[in-house]
Amino acid sequence: MTIAREESFKTTCSYCGVGCGIVVKRDRRNNVTVEGDKDHPVNKGMLCSKGMNLHYAMNDHSDRLFYPEMRRSRNHPLERVTWDDALKRTAAVFSTIIQKHGPDAVGFYVSGQCLTEEYYVVNKLVKGFLGTNNIDTNSRLCMSSAVAGYTNMLGEDAVPVAYEDIELADCFLIAGANPAWCHPILFRRIEAHKQRNPDVKLIVVDPRKTQTCTGADLHLQPLPGTDIYLYNAIARVLIENGDVDYTFIHNHTEDYERYRASVVAVPLADAARICAVPEEDIRMAAAYIAAAKGFLTLWAMGLNQSVVGVHKNFALISLNLITGHIGKPGSGPFSLTGQPNAMGGREVGGLATMLAAHRSLQNPVHRREVADFWGVPGISEKPGYTATQMVEALERGELKAIWIMCTNPLVSLPDLRRVEKALGNARFVVVQDISRKSDTLSFADLVLPAAGHFEKEGTMTNSERRISHLSKVVEPPGEALADAEIVCRFARAMGFHGFEYTSPAAIYDEHARLTRGTNIDISGLSYERLKTEGTFQWPVKDISSSGTARLFTDHRFYTPSQKARFFPLDKPANQSEPLTADFPLILTTGRIRDQWHTMTKTGKVSRLRQHIDKPFLEIHPDDAAARDIQEGTVVTIRSARGDVRVRAKITDEIKQGVVFLPMHWGKATTDLARANNLTSTLVDPISKEPDFKFSAVEVTPYIKP
Ligand code: SF4
Repeated sequence: MTIAREESFKTTCSYCGVGCGIVVKRDRRNNVTVEGDKDHPVNKGMLCSKGMNLHYAMNDHSDRLFYPEMRRSRNHPLERVTWDDALKRTAAVFSTIIQKHGPDAVGFYVSGQCLTEEYYVVNKLVKGFLGTNNIDTNSRLCMSSAVAGYTNMLGEDAVPVAYEDIELADCFLIAGANPAWCHPILFRRIEAHKQRNPDVKLIVVDPRKTQTCTGADLHLQPLPGTDIYLYNAIARVLIENGDVDYTFIHNHTEDYERYRASVVAVPLADAARICAVPEEDIRMAAAYIAAAKGFLTLWAMGLNQSVVGVHKNFALISLNLITGHIGKPGSGPFSLTGQPNAMGGREVGGLATMLAAHRSLQNPVHRREVADFWGVPGISEKPGYTATQMVEALERGELKAIWIMCTNPLVSLPDLRRVEKALGNARFVVVQDISRKSDTLSFADLVLPAAGHFEKEGTMTNSERRISHLSKVVEPPGEALADAEIVCRFARAMGFHGFEYTSPAAIYDEHARLTRGTNIDISGLSYERLKTEGTFQWPVKDISSSGTARLFTDHRFYTPSQKARFFPLDKPANQSEPLTADFPLILTTGRIRDQWHTMTKTGKVSRLRQHIDKPFLEIHPDDAAARDIQEGTVVTIRSARGDVRVRAKITDEIKQGVVFLPMHWGKATTDLARANNLTSTLVDPISKEPDFKFSAVEVTPYIKP
């Protein structure tokens, strides 16, 4: 019998944006096990159910892609090809399309699960060398409204707080997030802090009574889409009671009067009626905030995924600004990232509307800085297609080739039947992934096998701006390659110079140099420091810096005036898809505790399937009774775009008039459970984030034809 000699490696969990540190042990057979890293400041050894079972997904190669495959033409099956052949032929296709139709005829759609170095090189390739800004990321679907909220109000996309503020806060307002299930280790820190300090107040805002509400002092259950009225109503009470920090407002903000006027224009009783939240609960929330010495607002997709997502961000962040709760211990507005490296993607300008190191695509000086740094003639000033705009451009035939990397849009984008038609319209589709189970593979003309999370090295940044180094633990199977290596090989096949990196460290060093002099400056943080000294929160401006836990401690913001900006919040209550007699219910979608995104990893782990193994529809008892639906009844959910069939779960934990579907299941499991068959294509006009939390639907018992 072989005695396994174990080796240990430090890395991070591949799932949510909490960014827990893990220790991976590898035996001689290359099997891995994981445990929480006791030295990691985020989790101090703790892991949630997904993290502690990560190795089961990583050890299981049954669905892995092992070698490149390509079609000779649309009607031919995928056939194995060499890497050289695949990349040369693809370079020829991309070059021909660009020559004939211009660079905007190609696009890349990447992921918040890419490492920072991968994000960096693919952005460099597309924006610097292909000559288009058509590169967007699935992070568009989860946090682009928060990016716009921070940028407009604070001057830059800068999360001002750190997890250590959790233990210093005495009032939490968690809005549109269920961290008990979706950011579990972070929520455990909140719970533990509250247990130690019973006076700490927890306010949760959610149309559903989620696990996060257990132990909350106050659960506000607004109708979807009405959040702005709710936060304004809380602000109104704070203003009326004089519980605002006028010194801070006067010295460090601008446009407060216009904001105040929009807030006081709506009587409290009207706001309470619109949100369907009792007036006394709104007063109670204001009282908790007024009494707090440290006030943290935390939010996620419930706010961001909205047709008014940016204004919801404005309304919530305004509560921190009017009370002066920003830039001091235990206080601040804290957008939680859903994906492990959504934040790293923002650092390298990973969205179609951004440039590296938080530079602006609209700013000619910034474009010149980046172009000179990369040694290219210039960068297009035209914003690229965002995620849903890529679908529209494919439909119109303007986008002819799309490269999909590390994401599964055929489960995650809204209105999936439309996405299928759009991808079918593409002349050439590249899918770069680890799993054969990705639904998107069925549209691929070229499949490129990528290395998994433990099979490559690089860095990631979590929700609190903390950069961690990820070690390579095992070799990728078959011919799979790290994503950065694939991108660089393709760039060289296109004839571009500047992609001859010898290691991920070399890419990181280049990215770090490009941040010099910016507000996210990490030029003092070498790759070697990250490997040997542990994690750091940016900025890290010089080699003596140990990082920056909290931003804006001097109350000088990144706007030209150095003052935070208020915005008037006078939008109508709801601009989502209208409810009608045919579609009278509001569908909201979201996650469950033990599954991750489109289940290509967590779906393989039997322990995780034990929690909830089938899709379901949550419906209020009154809505169910009105439709003759019993617990477990198979129901059809219809919208103007499609239908879904699952079993009903009747619960008074959801607001009447609202139904909930988990978003994880795709066609690979069953087409009938794809929540995004139903979802609306409306997006926020500023952030272009889809309105996943509000689609008009009807639910009926399923009758066999
Ligand atoms: Fe992984 Fe997030 Fe769980 Fe931490 S909280 S172990 S990062 S899924």
